[in-house]
Amino acid sequence: MADCIFCKIAGKEIPSTAVYEDDTVIAFRDLEPQAPVHVLVIPKKHIESVLGFGPEDRELAAHILADVIPQVAKEQGLTEKGFRVITNVGTDGGQTVPHLHFHILGGRSLQWPPG
Ligand code: 5GP
Ligand code: ZN
Repeated sequence: MADCIFCKIAGKEIPSTAVYEDDTVIAFRDLEPQAPVHVLVIPKKHIESVLGFGPEDRELAAHILADVIPQVAKEQGLTEKGFRVITNVGTDGGQTVPHLHFHILGGRSLQWPPG
């Protein structure tokens, strides 16, 4: 989608530090990390949020949650002590980039609830 930062990152028009990539998904380090490990996992296709998943995206959704996130967490050394996976949706959810992304945060003790 034109003018979408994360579509541009997926298309390599904007550089990022990728930690995982395949045909449908890319994971890269957040520009403003909120924890020692802060990675964003996105579908390469433009989906605005979890609300934008269509029936054709079921395999992609499962791939992100069941394959990519656990693999990235393992590779980043987060599985022993734990970590957090967050996806913000819309204004009240604090979503600032309208392209679906899952934050993986870890490497420190995280507080709950978030603000
Ligand atoms: P949201 O607030 O939408 O849940 O998360 C958006 C995240 O994207 C923020 O944590 C922000 O730091 C990150 N971000 C915004 N623009 C860029 C960028 O150009 N590159 C990278 N790597 N991260 C970005
Ligand atoms: Zn996009």
